[in-house]
Amino acid sequence: MSLSVLSAPVVVEEDPLDLMDEIDALKKEKDATILAHFYVDGEIQDIADFTGDSLKLARDATRVTTSTIVFAGVHFMGESAKIMNPTKRVLIPDMLAGCSLADSCPPNQLAAFQEQLRSQGRDFQTVAYINTSAAVKSLCDWIVTSGNAREIIDRVPQDKEILFVPDQHLGRYLVEMTGRKMILWPGSCMVHEIFSIQDLIRAKKNNPGSIVIAHPECPQNILEITDVIGGTEKMRQYVMKMEKPTTFLVATEAAMIHPLQKAAPQHTYIPVPGIVASSGETCACNRCPHMARNTLQKVRDCLRDGRPEIEWKDYFQQARAVLDRSLL
Ligand code: SF4
Repeated sequence: MSLSVLSAPVVVEEDPLDLMDEIDALKKEKDATILAHFYVDGEIQDIADFTGDSLKLARDATRVTTSTIVFAGVHFMGESAKIMNPTKRVLIPDMLAGCSLADSCPPNQLAAFQEQLRSQGRDFQTVAYINTSAAVKSLCDWIVTSGNAREIIDRVPQDKEILFVPDQHLGRYLVEMTGRKMILWPGSCMVHEIFSIQDLIRAKKNNPGSIVIAHPECPQNILEITDVIGGTEKMRQYVMKMEKPTTFLVATEAAMIHPLQKAAPQHTYIPVPGIVASSGETCACNRCPHMARNTLQKVRDCLRDGRPEIEWKDYFQQARAVLDRSLL
């Protein structure tokens, strides 16, 4: 076998500071604004014009005045930005940055299930968590985030059943919160599913006085011993309000530590370890592999090359009507 067959391709590491300068210059040259989710690497959040959770970023996208939006996040977020801004060019650094939760509810399966319920004479409205594809959004009546879910569910008439998709854990939490019965789609997020209950209990014991903050996408056993349940923006607001230095055990994607530290540096943040279901081993990272596909290089490349781009699809119009009614 020749040496060229055996050699792995050489990856040239570029200096992050040079990349940041290049991105800054390209932003001006290409008339672009960068939006970054709290779950992407901190260095991307640092060069972004807007950072936040999916709801905040969907709203921020409507305030962008440049002709191009670069969305450092995952695919469904880029779709939402395009839906809300049809005339703008929306680029995402990596077209393969998907979402296991969104993927757990394919539109054809949802449409078939809705049809089955209708054929049984069930009178229901479909409420979708924002982590869904645009095609799924177009099949729903309402879109919720962890921040506005209770308010939206109150708007569903009492005589209707609720089909909640795609996150079973968030759905179960909302059943508890609102007292409404729901048909729950059996989807989940690969990152929030793997938190290790044993390690969380151990971390609590080793850090007396610590406060557990967890995302409602976490399973019930984690939420049962959580002090503060909320989406990423609620977490940020919570730690900012607390002046006394405190240790927080954080059960969400590990990159979230970066905006928490920036917002309230007086505290200590410890990411709750995850557990790999197949092997039973704990993993200390809890990084979303889809969010991790975003890198400074890819942000630079997509700005420079003008691709990959989220193209407008026919069903975006219907998804927009649902998003407008629900969020903005
Ligand atoms: S953390 Fe989970 S819900 Fe969020 S993008 Fe990654 S897979 Fe999707």
